[in-house]
Amino acid sequence: MWALFYFILVYNLNFGCRMVKQYVLGIDIGGTFTKIGIVDLEGTILKNTVYKTGANAFYGDFLNKLEVQVNLLRKALNKNDRLLCIGVGAPNANYLTGLMEHPVNFRWGDKVPLVSEIEKLFGLPVYIANDANAAALGELYFGSGKNMKDFVVLTLGTGLGSGIIANGEILRGAHGMAGEIGHVNVDPNGRNCKCGLQGCLETYASVTGIKRTVFELLAEMTVDSAMRRISYDEMTGEMIANAALEGDEVALTAFEKTALVLGGKMADTAAHLDPEAFILSGGLSKAGAILLNPVITSMEKNLFKAYRGKIKVMISDLPGASAVLGPAALAWQQINRMKT
Ligand SMILES: [Zn+2]
Repeated sequence: MWALFYFILVYNLNFGCRMVKQYVLGIDIGGTFTKIGIVDLEGTILKNTVYKTGANAFYGDFLNKLEVQVNLLRKALNKNDRLLCIGVGAPNANYLTGLMEHPVNFRWGDKVPLVSEIEKLFGLPVYIANDANAAALGELYFGSGKNMKDFVVLTLGTGLGSGIIANGEILRGAHGMAGEIGHVNVDPNGRNCKCGLQGCLETYASVTGIKRTVFELLAEMTVDSAMRRISYDEMTGEMIANAALEGDEVALTAFEKTALVLGGKMADTAAHLDPEAFILSGGLSKAGAILLNPVITSMEKNLFKAYRGKIKVMISDLPGASAVLGPAALAWQQINRMKT
């Protein structure tokens, strides 16, 4: 049905009126914040906004708020501008079913109908992907991955998300679930993970993971540290990064330990996929070289010889509002497919 919709729309836009500008809407649904933005084919964000998701309230409330916020954004469009479709990135969003399935940090139910409800709201085609896969598409279309066909994006936020681009396409897998690198095992007797397993990578290499490491180090080390005066709930990845930049020994050691674990598992991933690069994004990546340098050292040390010195590791160069660029890239990808 949407193929015909696009044919008519794109035909009219291309041949009917030269002044028309085309946009898509990107929606990134996070456990705390939802980010939405109107984005053109070059990745320029015409207008964007951020507001509280309300993951603990009703799904209906979220939809009501989404409608209000999108309608406010739409005011930035000129009379001749066209919004073609909507891309949505969300945790546990499955493109095969159109549902958000068993989202851990949301109280919207086990199967949340994202595609059908958002299509109903706006009368536009809606495409979904899990948030890390959307982030990988954002890098492929608009970011560091623009000139690459094989790379892995690791989003180091509250958890560790991963999106794999293989031969220029998202690797989806048989069940739409490929690339859950956050839940590969680091230590069978290690930290408990929210997923129910023990010793998952994200319990070490994420903002939550490094906080757990900081608190272990504070118990083991006797040196003074700015970290001692911050509670667990108040501590952010940015605070740990800033302390490390100022030479705080506990924070620096925490980054070294995190990088050691992460780099080791990136070497494993390299053996599976032979990527051209790893692109790191999310809160922890803001630490820059403090994270990057020991990650590269650890990865290289653990790499199979054939890959050594060949795989780039970089920090995402997308701007701060980039969370909407991933879902927007997903939307543009679908439009391009319909055209061909
Ligand atoms: Zn896990």
